[in-house]
This record gives sequence, structure tokens and C-alpha cells, in this order.
Amino acid sequence: MIELNNIKKNFGELRVLKGVDLTVHQGEVVSIIGPSGSGKSTLLRCLIGLEKLEAGEIFVEGNRVNTFQDGPQKMGMVFQGFNLFPHKTALGNVIEAPLVVNKLEKSKAIDLGEQMLDRVGLLDKRDVYPAMLSGGQQQRVAIARALAMQPDIMLFDEPTSSLDPELVGEVLAVIKELASDKITMLVVTHEMGFARSVSDRVIFMDEGKIIADAAPDKIFNLPEHERIEAFLEKIL
Ligand code: ATP
Ligand code: MG
Repeated sequence: MIELNNIKKNFGELRVLKGVDLTVHQGEVVSIIGPSGSGKSTLLRCLIGLEKLEAGEIFVEGNRVNTFQDGPQKMGMVFQGFNLFPHKTALGNVIEAPLVVNKLEKSKAIDLGEQMLDRVGLLDKRDVYPAMLSGGQQQRVAIARALAMQPDIMLFDEPTSSLDPELVGEVLAVIKELASDKITMLVVTHEMGFARSVSDRVIFMDEGKIIADAAPDKIFNLPEHERIEAFLEKIL
């Protein structure tokens, strides 16, 4: 379980998160939507321990997250850009952290890496370098790489927004598959179809606050806030 209590984050004078409370239960899939600049990425970065908070507390499985070391052990994150190491093969990318961070034996890391590539449907691309992969394939390798650290929680920050439209589906399919495996997930997305069909809950952020947190049907069919209605009108 993840618990955020009254999180506040500023960048200089700019108040970016203005008191965010959020609880996410084991196995839940939560989509985070909202306008550009509302603090969605910052929220994920705080959660994984990449940002120092002004105020508030974060607990993951009852342990307080307050240093960089506490976060990434249990959490994997996939960003908008693929951020793969260009000089490493697909497998090389996936096994890097298990080898270096977890000090796994090479043969074990390779077994694990192959399993993870298989999970995202890319075992046949094991020895291929990122430059020879499509954007969708690169993003699936990035997901395999995060999964190789066997996280309890996966954070996705607009994982499909730098992809050509025809490649979005294959990445969403992999994420959907993880959802059915009961990995706890927070997904910042502009894919409203995905948010609607895959998430247990949808959170709407606006100006550094969560202004709605409800089942997808409730958010999409009966938006209670004008801001949400206006946002959905623009995006759908
Ligand atoms: P988008 O949908 O465009 O990705 P977002 O909801 O993810 O937007 P954030 O990236 O969290 O928004 O940014 C929230 C605000 O914080 C923005 O005004 C942004 O300019 C500012 N901001 C984010 N990171 C930094 C930083 N490292 N230094 C200064 N300002 C920042
Ligand atoms: Mg963002």
C-alpha cells in the first residue's frame, strides 16, 4: 500500500504540489490525468524519491520514503522517452541493474532478463540494439528493464506520448497485461480509453491538487467539476 499525506513540493517560488493526499492499495491500477503543469510528473518523482518534499509524508508498505535509496528498490518507473543505453542490446539494458545494483550472477541475470523480455513479447530482439528497434519496442524494453528489478509498484509517466499512434497499442497492451498480474500501478496518461478501461481509479490533478479521485465511470460519465469537464472536452 502507498500512502501520501499532505505532500507539498515547491520549485523556488513555484508551488507545484499543494497538499496531496492519496492512498493506493496493493494491486490497484490508478490513472492520473490532468492539464499540463498540474504536477503529475512531480507527484511520481516525489513518490519514487527523486524530489525532496517541502512537507508531508510518503509511506510504502508502512515504510517511510524519505531517501533516494528507499524508493527505487520497490518501485520501477518508465518515462515518456525510452532512456535506453544505446550501446547495449535489449538484453544488456534489461540485465544492467540486476547485475550492477543487485549483484546478481551473470547467468541468473540473463535468465531473468530473458524472462522479462519474453513478458513484453520481445525475446526475439534479445541481441538487438535500441537504434534498430521501433519506438514501441524500445518502450517495451524499458518496461522489461523496470520489471527486472522485480518492483512491487510500477510508475508510468506518459509511457506512450512520444510514440507514433500506430505503436501506442502494443505498449498499452503490455501495461494492461501487468495490470491483470496485480502489480500496483500509477499511470500518468493522456490515453483516456486506457484510463477508462484499465484503471480501478482515475485521479484528476489540477494546479497541484487532486480534485477528483473516483472510479473511471464516475470521472468520465459524470464529471462533477467544471475543470474536469473542460479538460475532457478538449482531449476527447
Ligand atoms: P505535463 O502534462 O506537461 O507533463 P505535469 O502535470 O507532469 O505536466 P510537472 O512536470 O509535474 O507537470 O510540472 C509542474 C510544474 O512544475 C510546472 O509548472 C513545471 O514547469 C514545474 N517544474 C517541474 N519540474 C521542475 C524543475 N525541476 N524545476 C523547476 N520547475 C519545475
Ligand atoms: Mg509530466
